[in-house]
Amino acid sequence: MVTTRFAPSPTGRLHVGNIRTALHNWLLAKQAGGRFLLRIDDTDAARSEERFVDAIREDLAWLGLDHDGEERQSARLAEYEAAFEALRAAGRVYPAYETAQELELKRKILLGRGLPPIYDRAALSLSDEDRAAKEAEGVAPHWRFKLDHDSMIEWDDGIRGPQHFDPAQLSDPVVRRADGSWLYMLPSAVDDIAMGVTDVLRGEDHVSNTAVQIQMFTALDAAPPRFAHEALLVGREGKLSKRLGALGCDALRESGIEPEALLSLLARLGTSQPVEPIIDRSKLIETFDLGTFGRAPAKFDDAELGRINTAILHQLPYDDVAARLPEGMGPQAWEAIRPNLEKLADAQDWWSVVTGPVSPPDFDDETKAFLARAAELLTWGDEPWRGLTAALKEETGRKGKALFLPLRQALTGRDHGPDMNALLPLIGEEAARSRLAAAAR
Ligand code: GLU
Repeated sequence: MVTTRFAPSPTGRLHVGNIRTALHNWLLAKQAGGRFLLRIDDTDAARSEERFVDAIREDLAWLGLDHDGEERQSARLAEYEAAFEALRAAGRVYPAYETAQELELKRKILLGRGLPPIYDRAALSLSDEDRAAKEAEGVAPHWRFKLDHDSMIEWDDGIRGPQHFDPAQLSDPVVRRADGSWLYMLPSAVDDIAMGVTDVLRGEDHVSNTAVQIQMFTALDAAPPRFAHEALLVGREGKLSKRLGALGCDALRESGIEPEALLSLLARLGTSQPVEPIIDRSKLIETFDLGTFGRAPAKFDDAELGRINTAILHQLPYDDVAARLPEGMGPQAWEAIRPNLEKLADAQDWWSVVTGPVSPPDFDDETKAFLARAAELLTWGDEPWRGLTAALKEETGRKGKALFLPLRQALTGRDHGPDMNALLPLIGEEAARSRLAAAAR
């Protein structure tokens, strides 16, 4: 059974970058009929906040990315302790006593000599007495995972293809701080094993972590999952823009972005498949394909999101939006107004054109006479707008803009707007006649 997970740290709102990771893991699981887990990476007690855990749940619910189970790292500390003890007994973790300043100095020296800043494993050559002396001084150790230098680390990445890392070119990673708290690397591997994760799909900033974690899986007697690393999301000018791209999910939602728009864009951005406004999720699921993902950073563009959002809105059926529409606005009104919307919130504006009052401009006398005649000629039937304009055209000889614009202005108070054929029946006969008559005075 394919099992994927989305593992956010609750240190802020979800933004487009991690929404994309969540979506891709969800799509991968759905396509395979598998499971998608939410794992809250909250081992960093100082930076994790409960309000962000709630916000992540809320954001995923709004996006419709339902999960098949939620796990929290802070509830699993005993498991990490057990794995740590097993690794310690096997000699795969070791205590180190260097201070941050000492480590920084070592790095600088290596870099100054033009060498990669790989940890020199000095802690491995400490004697029992050295360690006892450190502890007597009150220095608690932090703990490193001892990489096995004997063979290359290799995996076939679902996006990047075959990967090779020489473990001797990597530093033994710190897995536990001197205060006993955990760094991300080991708990994540322990969880992936315990939760039966088969596919880890994440950003390419994790590629070197994967190399290390593959050795952790092996050291813990587990087969590593499949890995795939996607190119990062960047803004048009490089970094993610200060506008939508950097905003949290809540702000995107408040700015009128529909979840379907975000998902349509993020599902295919950076792939060779065209980004299309797709409201049917099963289509996104069916067409999801890691093989189409490119290696170049994916460019996120606010304007593109805006365009997709508008196109999505124009497809949404009434039932999907009814709860968010102004009181009284029914399916017929939605159909009439929908093509004019950029954001759903604009529906209020057009609905007030239907319900009135409207404020038309001041017309010249000739136009007033024309509008007065319009009030008299208005008859009601299946197509009142067609009937009215045909009768007026015949009687006054007006056509085009001279015919349509004053009528639209008198009836709606606007120069532009939804198709009058659809709008006039919503305004209704009585209101239409009195708006025409009022504008004629
Ligand atoms: N909490 C980690 C992050 O947000 C999870 C990475 C992973 O998917 O393993 O970067």
